[in-house]
Amino acid sequence: MALPKLQLHTKILLALVAGAGFGLAANRLGLAWLVVTYIQPVGTAFVRLIGMVVVPLVFASLLVGTTSLKDVRRLGRIGVKTIAFYLCTTAIAVSIGLLLANLAGPGSGLAEQAKSKLIEGAERQDGAAEAAQEKPSVKDVLLNIIPTNPIRAFAEGQMLQIIFFALLTGVCLTLIRPERSEPAVRFFEAVNDVMVMMVHLIMKVAPFGVFALIAGVVADFGLHILLLLAKYCAVVVVGLLVHMLLVYSSALRLLTGMGAVRFFRGIRPAQLIAFSSSSSSATLPVTIECTAENLGVSRAICSFTLPLGATINMDGTSLYQGVSAVFLAQLYGMDLSVAQQLAVVLTATLASIGTAGTPGAGIVTLAIVLSSIGVPLQGIGIIMGVERILDMCRSVVNVTGDAACAAVVAATEDRTRNVPTGALVLLVR
Ligand code: ASP
Repeated sequence: MALPKLQLHTKILLALVAGAGFGLAANRLGLAWLVVTYIQPVGTAFVRLIGMVVVPLVFASLLVGTTSLKDVRRLGRIGVKTIAFYLCTTAIAVSIGLLLANLAGPGSGLAEQAKSKLIEGAERQDGAAEAAQEKPSVKDVLLNIIPTNPIRAFAEGQMLQIIFFALLTGVCLTLIRPERSEPAVRFFEAVNDVMVMMVHLIMKVAPFGVFALIAGVVADFGLHILLLLAKYCAVVVVGLLVHMLLVYSSALRLLTGMGAVRFFRGIRPAQLIAFSSSSSSATLPVTIECTAENLGVSRAICSFTLPLGATINMDGTSLYQGVSAVFLAQLYGMDLSVAQQLAVVLTATLASIGTAGTPGAGIVTLAIVLSSIGVPLQGIGIIMGVERILDMCRSVVNVTGDAACAAVVAATEDRTRNVPTGALVLLVR
């Protein structure tokens, strides 16, 4: 009997569940090393494959997107809307995190015994805390957007710098005579198409990659450490869900008329990849495809808003930072004043601009937030054990926020629907 043909996202979901079960079994049987050595590399290969596409895709799609918006004034308007949406939703996300953490008090009820064990763990994790101590200042984050050498920016994958250079190149292409700019635009359109095609090919092996990634994480950490910090994790996860289901759904309903079911169904493949890869940058190609093909946002708007979002918009990360700041303050017996909590909102919103869309980037910029309110940076070591699982969850919200913004900007700009091309049906069906 022939097996029924499953949709791609169903296959990815099945792979996710199977991978978690497999990883847990390996952990219980003491075979974690086997999974980490032989299976996890398959997941790493998958993430590298998607990562390979990111730099050329971001440059080409942003450049093509910018030139296709034609007039510079329209571009400026879309830019302002995009950045305003990103900053507002990020500030709301941190506030939700702070509110929930204050209400639930995840760090206050811990037994002394568990507490001292955690603090011991923090001391052992000194390396992580030290790495996080090298916090960039806001001035550095802003200056660093301008590349002194674009080629180096490409080689190092400096996304903000690549975005800046791509936008400026796109704007200049619209300012020169069309007969001069057309060959370059056509070239980058072709590069863009090739990269999109590459994403579709890579997505065919996504279920294997996702299985291997999840199996590796669960086998490595097991459930023990997760149980220890369960309350803290629960607050982060509830906050992320509230933000996703309330804030995005209402923004979409109010500003675009799009129903939540349609939105979440359309963006699901990107969410699953973000969950398993913990990286909004690596997920970007899939986010672009889902937003364009499944939500019907024009490619010009996707190409502009999504690469920018994957780089500067981290709602999930800033919510996580808000909860972490309060949790650690409670753990260290500190009472955060209203002014300190406002400082958290401000620094977490700014820190999210400087957070790369890569695994674990958020815990590094958490140092900016913690030091703004005087919480010991060693605290980072305490939450290090559950970092990966929360990174997976917050990355989902990060990409969802980017897609929500694209849909909102598209609805206020134009309602052009993309006609799905044959090659792209892979992600939709
Ligand atoms: N992993 C997150 C992302 O790529 C960033 C973070 O570490 O919070 O979206």
